[in-house]
Amino acid sequence: MNTTPLSIPPLISGGIMLSYRCTSTCRHCLYRCSPDRPDEWMTLDMAETIFTVLKKESYLQSIHIAGGEPTLKWPLLLDVIRLSRKMHIPVEYMETNASWCKSRTTTQKKMHELKEAGLTSLLVSVSMFHNEFVAFSHTRNCVEIAREVFGNENVILYLPHMYHLIAEMPGDGKHSLEDFCDHHGIRPGSLSLLKLYDVVPSGRAVSALRHCYQKRSVATFSGQSCRNDLLSTTHFHIDHEGNLFTGCCAGIAQATVPDLHPSVLSDTHPVFSMLCTEGPFGLMETSGKEHGFKPRHEGYVSKCALCLHVREHLSETGKFHELRPSYFYSE
Ligand code: SF4
Ligand code: SF4
Repeated sequence: MNTTPLSIPPLISGGIMLSYRCTSTCRHCLYRCSPDRPDEWMTLDMAETIFTVLKKESYLQSIHIAGGEPTLKWPLLLDVIRLSRKMHIPVEYMETNASWCKSRTTTQKKMHELKEAGLTSLLVSVSMFHNEFVAFSHTRNCVEIAREVFGNENVILYLPHMYHLIAEMPGDGKHSLEDFCDHHGIRPGSLSLLKLYDVVPSGRAVSALRHCYQKRSVATFSGQSCRNDLLSTTHFHIDHEGNLFTGCCAGIAQATVPDLHPSVLSDTHPVFSMLCTEGPFGLMETSGKEHGFKPRHEGYVSKCALCLHVREHLSETGKFHELRPSYFYSE
């Protein structure tokens, strides 16, 4: 048993998630957001607590405001932006999927509201995964009007080449992933599809895009510690309940505001500690002995896929407070 406490390093850059609720159910979504997630949102009090704690982070460079889709609760979003400005929190940008940009007139009005509240920059998500749920006309409205309101240099396209590939599709509506592949001559289920976006093989991707990866036996993942991933704070997230997630590791909250740097011990944080030392293979072995976990015979597409399967099993026991929120563990 590991008795040396781990500690989360100073936070560098990250996102504030107002909710897990989204208009879309993108196949690559790390946080498995969707319209079916509970209608639970960050309160303004929680935002204030989070900002107060973040102000004490000496190395914090920037934060961004994210969802789910943060624009779904428009008055709350404006209040959070105003609060961040009042508290001198360095908000780099707000992230959106552009689903709210159907009408150019309404989009224009809302962009000005965001700017007046204190927002200075917008990140617009665009990919073949987003385009299954958001018409390209909405994305185009969002980008063009944001450029008018915030200035060209303050609109981030994530990712620019995806914008052009979607723009080349016939019509400016939604397109299925299969249609996208067909139009661009990409074999569906191929790695080249994922390389277009640099998909992280974690979150929803391990199930919704599993056909694009080759499965490997669990032994392949033996000895792969996740210490570097879990102690990485260059892209952390804090959700609406104040749970902190490090690396790209959604669903493992080793800290909650106001204490974002607790002593992490194997008896208080068994999942996090085991993943930092033995990785998902070690977690699988312990979970097999102590909680009856059985891995899939066919193997897994990545170490994160194995990790997620074990954590889904552990979450069902209700014994692991680190595995939050519980609905992250249901598809
Ligand atoms: S739009 Fe963003 S938050 Fe919503 S499902 Fe897609 S990737 Fe996830
Ligand atoms: S295997 Fe688990 S802990 Fe490791 S990087 Fe993937 S999600 Fe994070």
